[in-house]
Amino acid sequence: MSISLILLNDTLRWHDNPLLNACEGTKAAVIVLNKAAFFGRQYGLPRANLQRLQQQIVVIAALKNTLAAKHIGLITLVGDTASCISALAGELNASQLYCAEPVGAYEYAAIKSLKQTLNVTQLDCNSLLGDNLRPELATMPNSFTPFRKQQEPLLQVSTPTQKTADENWLSPAHTEAYNSAFIQLSQQYSTHLTADTGSEAAALARLQYYIWQQQHILHYKQTRNQLMGGNYASFFSVPLSLGSLSVRYLWQQIVSFEQQVQANDSTYWLKFELLWREFFRWQFRKYANLWFSKGAIKGRADFSQPQLSKAQLKQFNLWCQGNTGEPFIDANMQLLNQTGLMSNRGRQNVASYLLHNLDIDWRLGAAYFEQRLLDYDCASNWGNWAYIAGTGNSTQRQFNISKQAQMYDPQGAFVNAILLSTLS
Ligand SMILES: Cc1cc2nc3c(=O)[nH]c(=O)nc-3n(C[C@H](O)[C@H](O)[C@H](O)COP(=O)(O)OP(=O)(O)OC[C@H]3O[C@@H](n4cnc5c(N)ncnc54)[C@H](O)[C@@H]3O)c2cc1C
Repeated sequence: MSISLILLNDTLRWHDNPLLNACEGTKAAVIVLNKAAFFGRQYGLPRANLQRLQQQIVVIAALKNTLAAKHIGLITLVGDTASCISALAGELNASQLYCAEPVGAYEYAAIKSLKQTLNVTQLDCNSLLGDNLRPELATMPNSFTPFRKQQEPLLQVSTPTQKTADENWLSPAHTEAYNSAFIQLSQQYSTHLTADTGSEAAALARLQYYIWQQQHILHYKQTRNQLMGGNYASFFSVPLSLGSLSVRYLWQQIVSFEQQVQANDSTYWLKFELLWREFFRWQFRKYANLWFSKGAIKGRADFSQPQLSKAQLKQFNLWCQGNTGEPFIDANMQLLNQTGLMSNRGRQNVASYLLHNLDIDWRLGAAYFEQRLLDYDCASNWGNWAYIAGTGNSTQRQFNISKQAQMYDPQGAFVNAILLSTLS
């Protein structure tokens, strides 16, 4: 009997998950917590902090419970994705692997190496365009506006998948024996997590609240540039980055709201921002690991480590700590360090400051954000950093920090709230 492995790494959800319906026959649900992504280093910086690791553990554990309630076991492994899956395939005599089509270069490489021994089927589970509307990568525009104008008229986001009843999953009793490393990791690290904003349940509750109950979506375009608070933006980025919220389901919910309640500039603008996410995803597929080169998609490939003078190293550390002496920058960085999140306006300003005021290699900023952001998403993070640096899909973007502070924090309420709270 041959078993199929269903790798749920990037789709930590039950709703609208095409992988759960991907094949007939006996199958095992698997997740690999990629050790290098959480315990590795890049450019001398840890790739993830404790908060990000804890969030990942909690969200995987939540999915495990959801599946268990439906008598589906979840194998949770810790290590290198390709080696863990190879070893498991050997043990279970599996010959097929189903997984979400990745975006990042590391994940692509892992899947590619598995193709040597397994029959691999990749489904695009986390893009709006999906398998039906795939853009031709070679001719895909490198600027957002032509991409949007090309895609928007065609965009019929496929309806969320419905699960069919299926008794062929390995049960929790079968899979528990494989979970000791993950259980050990959970016991070691997940104890002090406070708020769960990443699990599927939290994401669906947030969607109900933000769109349907409070209808904050109707004011999104006016509030989205604020710096602080609970509802100035959607806060869907965390579950979108984890795959615990389906972007197609989210899109359909916005369209339903527009049809049933009201459509305005703000409801459109939330979809517009989701197209930015979409744009960077396909750009990542187009240029693969070139995104991690010094000149990203513009210069010649140069993967050498960023170099810093002694003075720059000091400035970089002060920027990371939120201690540059520029209050608008410091407040945003301290907010990031405290909460794992920062507004889009804040992100643009701190990036511009690091790159254009301090003249530091953009990849170090991207690496620090990777370590801290609870909504870390490879394409959105590295793509936005390169955008501001001028090495990606734009000429360089430089912000006048004092003008921005004046415009978006005229009374200094944000700066005071963050900097004074840190003092007390
Ligand atoms: C330097 C820099 C780094 C960033 N790193 C990340 C990252 O690692 N992960 C991430 O999800 N976003 C990143 N962004 C984009 C953006 O700042 C966040 O998506 C947004 O602040 C998340 O909050 P929200 O969900 O409330 O967004 P909303 O304003 O409510 O937007 C809704 C959704 O649209 C998408 N979106 C919005 N703006 C952008 C954008 N500029 N690029 C791509 N997608 C967008 C996100 O999926 C977001 O959840 C980065 C932006 C900059 C300037």
